[in-house]
Amino acid sequence: MTADLSKIAAERGIKYFLISYVDLFGFLRAKLAPASAIAGMQKNGAGFAGFASHLDHTPAHSDTLAVPDPASLIQLPWKPEVGWVAADLYCDGVEVHDAPRAVLKKQIAKAKALGYQLKTGVECEFFLLTKDGKSIADPADLYPKPCYDQQALMRQYDLITGICDAMQTLGWKPYQNDHEDANGQFEMNWEYDDVLLTADRHTFFKYMVKTFAEEAGYRATFMPKPFNGLTGSGCHIHASLWKGGVNVFEDPKGELGLSPLAYNFLGGVIHSAAQLCALFNPTVNSFKRINAPRTVSGASWSPNTITYGGNNRTHMVRIPEPNRFEFRILDGATNPYLGPAAILMAGLDGIENKRDPGKRLDIDMYAEGYKIEGAPKLPLNLLDALRMFNKSEVARAGFGDRFVDSYVKLKMESWNDFMSHATEWERLHTLDC
Ligand code: ADP
Ligand code: MG
Ligand code: MG
Ligand code: MG
Ligand code: MG
Repeated sequence: MTADLSKIAAERGIKYFLISYVDLFGFLRAKLAPASAIAGMQKNGAGFAGFASHLDHTPAHSDTLAVPDPASLIQLPWKPEVGWVAADLYCDGVEVHDAPRAVLKKQIAKAKALGYQLKTGVECEFFLLTKDGKSIADPADLYPKPCYDQQALMRQYDLITGICDAMQTLGWKPYQNDHEDANGQFEMNWEYDDVLLTADRHTFFKYMVKTFAEEAGYRATFMPKPFNGLTGSGCHIHASLWKGGVNVFEDPKGELGLSPLAYNFLGGVIHSAAQLCALFNPTVNSFKRINAPRTVSGASWSPNTITYGGNNRTHMVRIPEPNRFEFRILDGATNPYLGPAAILMAGLDGIENKRDPGKRLDIDMYAEGYKIEGAPKLPLNLLDALRMFNKSEVARAGFGDRFVDSYVKLKMESWNDFMSHATEWERLHTLDC
């Protein structure tokens, strides 16, 4: 039975609902509906013009109806009269094929049919900037190796603990907050859980961070590489696969304590990593973070090749503990639903086809990577990534042609728009030609 949002509103003192969805480009869209109207919207959905957000619709399409999923309800800890709900999108009675939450749910259903549940934890790094988005908010945060800087962390005490307290209230089990490797960059961690729950929380976390930052007179960004020369913002995904309450990645007899099934899952991700890069690294800017030169802190902490290692942060995939993988390729622009959907899709393909991830590398990939002959490289820009995604048989089989076609179409529009703008770099390097 579906929970009755109208009843919940009366019980919990919710006056307004934010009926939200994440579009194909990761933007959060919403309507704010009074509780008196929620019963109707729970039945019929809230109406949106799909084309007005990043979805593959035309202006002539009939309404996109956003039906709130009551299981996703989050009562804003800092404004309890508002309830946030993730919505599922329908158009003409059919689920919208390029709605990111639907794309993830399709992969979850595939896993479930095989008895599997994916659990994920995300590390959403972000920068705190001045209101205009141009500089780092804290003018004293200048040290070239600023990771874990206690002083800079404590200057943001009110903001960081405000968000952490909210996560505690919500029962997310947050466990640490720190200053990250770039000036102005922070990370806050909470415990992993079911992949859909984590994706909804990831979406809400971004909204929460931006809200608290605005409250403090700042602007928060999850942009992958806001500053040349500084470490970019990753969004590492930690993942483990479960069956009947047991983590089936674990195997004390396996290499680094991981099962053959885990290595097949990894093999699937390794096999399709380049082809899925357009989902892991979905913006023009994403490619300034991966394949990046050394940053002022000494390392970019992001991958350039499709390799994996043990507890070694220079590879695309790290095995931090004998119970999970850490996928380090994803960045702050990763769609909270499409990133994990791509990992699950590729992992299931790996299991089905018993894909071999190849040999683990225990070297420092930044210093010694050149010694590995033929180490497969990640695409260098969004255009290459989109072309590879477009041609991926695994993606087409796993997501369906319609989703791949829509994604490539909309992202190519974005690429073409970028290409029609001359940049400062071009002026600097070409003015005197
Ligand atoms: P690091 O910075 O070392 O990469 P963090 O502590 O920042 O790691 O983040 C680790 C994330 O991995 C957290 O969200 C944590 O809950 C999650 N995690 C831990 N164990 C598992 C597991 N078995 N499956 C999925 N995620 C996990
Ligand atoms: Mg209107
Ligand atoms: Mg971390
Ligand atoms: Mg980090
Ligand atoms: Mg990490």
